[in-house]
Amino acid sequence: MLKYLWLVAFVLVAAACSTDNAADTTAAAPPVTPIPTTTVAPATTAESTTSTPTTTSTTTTTIPVPVGVPAEPSPPPASPGPLIEDGFSGVGAVTVAVGGAALYDDLEADPFVVAREGLVFAAHGMDGEWIEVFTSCDAPAWVHSSEVLAQPPAAAADIGEGFSFADATIVIDPGHGGPWNTGAVSPSGLVEKTINLDIARRVVDLLGEPHNVDWETGQLFVGSDIPAANWALTTRVGDEETGDYEAGLIFRSDLANAVNAHAMVAIHNNAGWEISLDQAGSDVYYQSQIPDSRRFARIMVEEMALSFAAFEADWVGAVQTGAKSRLSAREGNAQYYGILRRSEMPTVIAEGAYIANQSEADLLATAEFRQAYAEAIYRALVRFLTTDDTGLAPDSDPEIWAGTAGRGDARPDCVIPAQP
Ligand SMILES: [Zn+2]
Repeated sequence: MLKYLWLVAFVLVAAACSTDNAADTTAAAPPVTPIPTTTVAPATTAESTTSTPTTTSTTTTTIPVPVGVPAEPSPPPASPGPLIEDGFSGVGAVTVAVGGAALYDDLEADPFVVAREGLVFAAHGMDGEWIEVFTSCDAPAWVHSSEVLAQPPAAAADIGEGFSFADATIVIDPGHGGPWNTGAVSPSGLVEKTINLDIARRVVDLLGEPHNVDWETGQLFVGSDIPAANWALTTRVGDEETGDYEAGLIFRSDLANAVNAHAMVAIHNNAGWEISLDQAGSDVYYQSQIPDSRRFARIMVEEMALSFAAFEADWVGAVQTGAKSRLSAREGNAQYYGILRRSEMPTVIAEGAYIANQSEADLLATAEFRQAYAEAIYRALVRFLTTDDTGLAPDSDPEIWAGTAGRGDARPDCVIPAQP
């Protein structure tokens, strides 16, 4: 009976990460300490199961990437005018231009909202000057092509050894968002949706600049060995305040599919641990239907272990940590998590730390730890996309997972942020 009660409690806590409705509070930004300056070590030689991305530059630099705060969201595209990139034929993504964009259910009627500038939606087709989009509320709508920047999907490419990071299109998905989907909450009130967005913005900042990487220590430096990625999108757009809106799980995958992303990372922080650990209990979920996803997850767990080894906490985790996968009997043994089930490219769900554990929440409240989390994702993306590295982290085969995940579809009262 006790065991049963424990199990119920565990399921309830575990559910918090996907469906918790607790109050929204935000952590005060802690003071930022600069990282010590270090010299980049020469590139290490490849091993049988791991390799560092090939670099041609011999430049060393001593300027570490600053921790700081994430950059402000990119300014929205200028308007008005035809804002259609070459190669756009209806499919891809649209970004709402300056002044907002009217969205229509029915072109004969009034718009149902003027969407806020900077928001991103998936694009599915064109009819004359009108683009059919799929919105963050998991619904189709029409928008005029003069009020959005329309961008075509990435060209298909083989990832792995020989792939240039400069060609990479990557979708970063900050988990949860909006008033009803906070994700897990720490005892002190730190809210997962806010932390996830901050980490996602840091990843996008890293992807937007070239870097040198010390693969031994994981430290990132200003440099040119790893080029900026071609295109990095987030499924929620904005800062801590403006980026706090509902985004349905169908939309999140649909956006990544529409831009033909080479990889997608859903950023989360966990609840519902089982045991104490002497290191971070990072879990990364992979898609069993896309073989490369497991390799991606293994590399990411490895990079998280490297990043988080510099921090001390009363770590907790699952009995089986590492790269893992869950299948749902109710979904015909398809992927348990909707974002892994629906996304057509290698996608992982990163559960870097346990926000429900106050000791780890205290770390997540610091810019240094969130930056370390973002740098782990960045390094994992570089290794996954530009090498055939199999990763060294522990992993396990997919398991049938009882219970029901929240569907994650947008609620009927979902609201698209409006232009002020
Ligand atoms: Zn979560």
